[in-house]
Amino acid sequence: MMFNFQIEKPKTAPVDYQTLYDFIALGLGPAGMNGALYAKRKGLKTLLVGYDLGGQLNNTSDVDNYLGLGNIDASDMIHKFNTHIKELEVPILSEVKVISIQKYEHFEIALDNGETLKTKTLLYAFGGNPRKLGVPGEYEFASKGVSYCVTCDAPFFKQRHVIVAGGGNSALDAAIDLARLASKVTIVHRSQFKGDQTTVNQLKKMPNVEMFLETQILEVKGEITMTGVQVLDKKTKTERFIEADGIFIEIGHIPNSNLLEGLANLNNSKEIIVDRFQQTNIEGLYAAGDVTDNPNKQIIIAASEGAVAALMATSYINQKGDK
Ligand SMILES: Cc1cc2nc3c(=O)[nH]c(=O)nc-3n(C[C@H](O)[C@H](O)[C@H](O)COP(=O)(O)OP(=O)(O)OC[C@H]3O[C@@H](n4cnc5c(N)ncnc54)[C@H](O)[C@@H]3O)c2cc1C
Repeated sequence: MMFNFQIEKPKTAPVDYQTLYDFIALGLGPAGMNGALYAKRKGLKTLLVGYDLGGQLNNTSDVDNYLGLGNIDASDMIHKFNTHIKELEVPILSEVKVISIQKYEHFEIALDNGETLKTKTLLYAFGGNPRKLGVPGEYEFASKGVSYCVTCDAPFFKQRHVIVAGGGNSALDAAIDLARLASKVTIVHRSQFKGDQTTVNQLKKMPNVEMFLETQILEVKGEITMTGVQVLDKKTKTERFIEADGIFIEIGHIPNSNLLEGLANLNNSKEIIVDRFQQTNIEGLYAAGDVTDNPNKQIIIAASEGAVAALMATSYINQKGDK
């Protein structure tokens, strides 16, 4: 809703290491940024802390699935997010690394600049990274055929031949999604499938899906964009080239949750377990985005979870009063 009068904007407060903040958001990705934006607009004494502005968007070329932004270059998206944060004068402490988090009466956050921050409530949004194959050409052809996200990139491979690397449930689900759009899907996995047998059976019935097990990807090859992968058949010990327009690497996700190990509950994949209000098992501690046990790792989801966390933290602070 727009009000037809001038809102006097307060000056952005400098970082105050003596202050007890109401809400600190850790992580300069979409989850942390949106959490801090919501908390600031609720009038909480807020600080946004992290290392690199934009998080994983820095490793992305363009984004096609954020409502209202159309097809946008990821660097433009970071710029838009940052402009919004600045317009609302959300205080930011960037280019610092958090080295430890302790919970006493309040949370204490130790930084690599030697300082410590204190806060009543904390949003942990340190994201994560897709696990890499670690083969030549993977980095060179990233966003030029190599993708780590079917939800993000599958529509770009309509009626194309794509490879799925991996044999767990996420790889099998990715292959099913892709088989609806791509002309052909080739699953390549270095051992036997680890995912559900029912999903494997479903894939076996799909006419445009082929599978190579006990097959190791040695290299992603290409010129301007990728043209295929060199593989080793481990049974026959022979190498060959599989021609393809793209490869989806679905071999897992590494959450940056190490600072909460021993404090919050994590699942077997080391993701932080949260409820539908983004609350962890620790009072006043929230987590949002790719670091949580939500399997859907997306910008719009991370941003909305950050907002939920900030609103729940506001209710928590309101209930606690001025303690
Ligand atoms: C190649 C690629 C393409 C993608 N494409 C799309 C797409 O098209 N659409 C889409 O919706 N999603 C896409 N995604 C997924 C999307 O980027 C993530 O879901 C989203 O960025 C998650 O946001 P986040 O805030 O949870 O974490 P992140 O973006 O991971 O941000 C976390 C931040 O925390 C910082 N951090 C971590 N540890 C510390 C520490 N100790 N101290 C200080 N800072 C720390 C990190 O440096 C980072 O800045 C893509 C991901 C990748 C890798």
